[in-house]
Amino acid sequence: MRAWQIAGTAAVGAYAANAFPSLWYHWLLAQKTARWLTGEGDASGIALTFDDGPDPKSTPQILDLLDAAGAKATFFMLGSQVELYPWVAQEVAARNFEIGLHGHWHKVHLLRSQASINYDLARGASAIAETTGQSPTFFRPPYGCLTKATLDAAHRLGLRTVLWGTWGRDWRKTATPVSVMADLRHRLKPGSTVLLHDSDCTSYPGAFRATLDALPALIETAASNKLAIRALRDHGF
Ligand SMILES: [Zn+2]
Repeated sequence: MRAWQIAGTAAVGAYAANAFPSLWYHWLLAQKTARWLTGEGDASGIALTFDDGPDPKSTPQILDLLDAAGAKATFFMLGSQVELYPWVAQEVAARNFEIGLHGHWHKVHLLRSQASINYDLARGASAIAETTGQSPTFFRPPYGCLTKATLDAAHRLGLRTVLWGTWGRDWRKTATPVSVMADLRHRLKPGSTVLLHDSDCTSYPGAFRATLDALPALIETAASNKLAIRALRDHGF
């Protein structure tokens, strides 16, 4: 295969990964060397993570459910959402939940320059730190779409990039509490990192309701399996 053909194939592959995040996800899970990206931690619990917030419609309700269960989680926030709803971001921090960075804007990183991605991450990290007093340790890119520039930008800021091991596909119009739990259970195991969303700002309006209603079942499942629900900072990986 000639160099231009290889480059073309890589570009098509990268485009497909961008257009169809689940394809990228399944490919990723097949790569043993990339397992660290899925956030597999200590088998005594699971790490619970929420993307796309903060959001006044849903984030405080999620905090209430988790507090009542003695559970913790990591909230991968968007800097743009933090600027819109600073009091919600501050509440997450004040209640001792972990805040991670999801970028300033919810844009795919593919085909963007290193400088553009650097700026995106730095601006988002600053918005979080200035608003909440927490400096993120973990970073998750929008759509789970990783490029070398993404990893380099996160590394410059001292952030560890983490994707997820199982997800509830709670962003979909057709998501229900039952479908969210069914999707989570598909790959859920001791040590998993779980992806959910605490905002519908990038997905179907009202999608967060399925997440909220699925949470009690997830909490019960974890309890019956003697698994702690914790933030990534306590996940032992
Ligand atoms: Zn997202």
